[in-house]
Amino acid sequence: MKCWICGKEAVYKNPQNDKALCSFHFKKYFERKVFKTIRKYEMIQPNDKIAVAISGEKDSTVLLYLIWKFTSKYGQKVFAFTIDEGIGDYRKKGIMFAKKIAEKLGIEYHVFSYKEEFGYTLPEILKFSKEPPCRICGILRRYLMNKKARELGATKLATGHNLNDEAENILLNVLRGKIIENAKLGPVVGVKLHPKFVRKIKPLYFINSEEVKLYADLNGIEYYSGHCKYRNDSFRYRIRKFLEEIRKEDPGVLNKIVNGNLEVIPILKKNYKGGKIKTCKICGEPSSRDICHVCKILKKL
Ligand code: SF4
Ligand code: ZN
Repeated sequence: MKCWICGKEAVYKNPQNDKALCSFHFKKYFERKVFKTIRKYEMIQPNDKIAVAISGEKDSTVLLYLIWKFTSKYGQKVFAFTIDEGIGDYRKKGIMFAKKIAEKLGIEYHVFSYKEEFGYTLPEILKFSKEPPCRICGILRRYLMNKKARELGATKLATGHNLNDEAENILLNVLRGKIIENAKLGPVVGVKLHPKFVRKIKPLYFINSEEVKLYADLNGIEYYSGHCKYRNDSFRYRIRKFLEEIRKEDPGVLNKIVNGNLEVIPILKKNYKGGKIKTCKICGEPSSRDICHVCKILKKL
């Protein structure tokens, strides 16, 4: 397999057009695609302060590297943080890798834990809850990411969500009978605004998981490749496995799902009647109800 641009040995074949690329041209293609997404969706403005949520795994580590590369041209402020759910060794190792790349790039880095913020680690909370681990974990993480990004003065919160994640999100909503929720997805998140919400941006939105891994490996970016012990129990994991199967027959299926959803988002948004975003009466954070999900979870403990 040869690079279609220069004829050197190829390391990658584009699932959408079957074109092969060598290491040099793959890196160029990858960066151009991410930076184009940032520009097209106006993710980063000149005066932004960007918080990057980083787990130490490949997606967020590559994201931090690319945000650093993008902003070093334009001078926006960047800091990174990891949310520590208290999941033993898994999170400790992730933090090691996250801290290492932040230090290497000279980026301010923080760790915020469920234990310090909520009084309990995720495994402690799960002893009292019948809800699936990832559901509780996701609610607490989204809450803490938004709160900490805002408290540190961020105007944007960048996350490492990639094409696979977004395709999974779309299918999850469909299979749960909540297609209208797909209106809330997209490269820049938030149908409705609340003064305490920090806009979420997803620069890796059109990049699939294998491309991220290849880019990390070709650039010598170190990342943690362990997995959370709760992952395999989640519905999302089953959808991931299902999509892996479909991709063997149709390598471009992720793009089809995500691009298809982008086409219907404007229609869904027109009809999206979701309630007004309120302010939680207990903690003061944005919430769809009088008492937010997090305060409800914590009240039961
Ligand atoms: Fe949390 Fe689930 Fe991710 Fe584990 S796999 S960190 S429980 S969301
Ligand atoms: Zn609350």
